Amino acid sequence: MPKKMRNRVKNTISRCVFQEKCVTLQHETHFQKDGMEQRYSSELFERAVDEFSKLPGVGRKSALRLVLHLLRMDVGAVDGFADAVRQLRHNVNYCKVCHNISDTEVCQICASPSRDTSTICVVENIRDVMAIEATSQYHGLYHVLGGVISPLDGIGPSDLHIQSLAERVGKGDVNEVILALSSTMEGDTTNFYISRKLSGFPNVRLTVLARGLSVNDELQYTDEVTLGRSIVNRVDFDARAAV
Ligand SMILES: [Zn+2]
Repeated sequence: MPKKMRNRVKNTISRCVFQEKCVTLQHETHFQKDGMEQRYSSELFERAVDEFSKLPGVGRKSALRLVLHLLRMDVGAVDGFADAVRQLRHNVNYCKVCHNISDTEVCQICASPSRDTSTICVVENIRDVMAIEATSQYHGLYHVLGGVISPLDGIGPSDLHIQSLAERVGKGDVNEVILALSSTMEGDTTNFYISRKLSGFPNVRLTVLARGLSVNDELQYTDEVTLGRSIVNRVDFDARAAV
């Protein structure tokens, strides 16, 4: 980069840093002017805003808005809200069979007599269970791994519920294991590991979710990997499903 341009960039960066400091100082001065260490006139209010702003995706402004809303709410409704949060943290368990969230030792899905116990759908986390349940298209059981194998993040097979999956399959009631993991390198690695782990059960069919075009996808805007997979994994045309 020419020296002239380098100096210009340098000056711009210094100006931005200076402006940012000025903005911060303005705020600090403003709060100090009020003669208060805290931002608000109530320490309890300040604490509530601090706690809300610790939640993911909630910034200081949103936290302030939520706390102001709570202040306006009926006292009974706020007590109910606080109790639900406390109960959630203290009393929600994980199903000892499939590791889904549950209020009892065995979750409602595992305990349900109407579910197909010969099929287990392996998912990464409980949000995936919720997503599949929302389709109303699957009636088997689940197995929540608690993540996927990711050496970069220090997550190995022993950190996941893979051994308990093998033990479930080993009981002999399962005909099919659906690997419903993300189509990422980590998901594929985990699929491979599980397939090796279950290789001692040749009668159990291992399947993966269909990968390809989404509903309403236009061919010209689809990336090559997705389009390639769609062609390789093409299926017979079903006129009933097309309408
Ligand atoms: Zn369960």
